[in-house]
Amino acid sequence: MGRIVAVANQKGGVGKTTTAVNLGASVAAAECKVLLVDMDPQANASSGLGVGPHEIDESIYAALDETRTIAELVKKTQLKTLDVIPAGPDLYGIDMDLGTREDRLHKLQQALSHVREDYDVIFIDCPPSLSLLTLNGLCAADSIIIPMQCEYYALEGLSQLMRTVEMVRAGPNPNLSIEGILLTMFDGRNNLAREVSNDVRTNFGDSVFKAVVPRNVRLSEAPSFGKPIILYDINSTGCKSYIQLAREFMEKHNIGHISSRPDHLQSEAAPL
Ligand code: ADP
Ligand code: MG
Repeated sequence: MGRIVAVANQKGGVGKTTTAVNLGASVAAAECKVLLVDMDPQANASSGLGVGPHEIDESIYAALDETRTIAELVKKTQLKTLDVIPAGPDLYGIDMDLGTREDRLHKLQQALSHVREDYDVIFIDCPPSLSLLTLNGLCAADSIIIPMQCEYYALEGLSQLMRTVEMVRAGPNPNLSIEGILLTMFDGRNNLAREVSNDVRTNFGDSVFKAVVPRNVRLSEAPSFGKPIILYDINSTGCKSYIQLAREFMEKHNIGHISSRPDHLQSEAAPL
């Protein structure tokens, strides 16, 4: 049964979508079946995987309001083993539409239960808020990945997110665990970034991934070509860091074939 992992942080621009897309693609490249569910109405994960607004007839919303099954909404990507369920602007209305339903926190969990068997991992890209969409993500998930930037207010934001995780654990999803905190857009020449990184490791210990994602312009270019970094520039430092993260994740859960070289990656680069 596929592990469900929410990528969440209420702060915008910390690297959630970049992580969901590139960790998802790196795990898929290691012969795992991966589904990426885009829960952000801005649909950046969908377009970052080449599924632009013109290809999106219906979004994950249709599964949340039960007019479609998840299987009907799945779109293929350029990687054979990576599927995506796109988001759309209709998700902005979710609070109004589900606001009073008793099962409103569990709509995504219910929808995903029908396809869990079909995937090794399901990643959920959450929007930058603690809204009903993010809460649906946290209630559906076995664990949460928290991308964070090493900047001044990051630790405060992290405490707030941890309180939300505790609240979810105390109520709707007692099984939610911390998969890991991921340091993103890291610049080792910046003293503050190094201090914050040390603080986070001191406070959260083993809950922080060993892999660190550096600031790398190739990671920010790739989405405009509708490609994950592994298909855009496999030799970039950004790509290497996400492959490292994928290794850490897959080793922990004993999935994937990290030393194999998938045929569908048409690059001349060294094996993963
Ligand atoms: P979020 O989903 O948390 O809002 P994104 O993943 O969309 O954050 O990242 C915000 C912006 O920063 C995007 O333009 C993205 O391309 C860029 N970005 C993300 N990670 C990196 C990185 N490691 N290096 C350089 N740019 C990055
Ligand atoms: Mg995002």
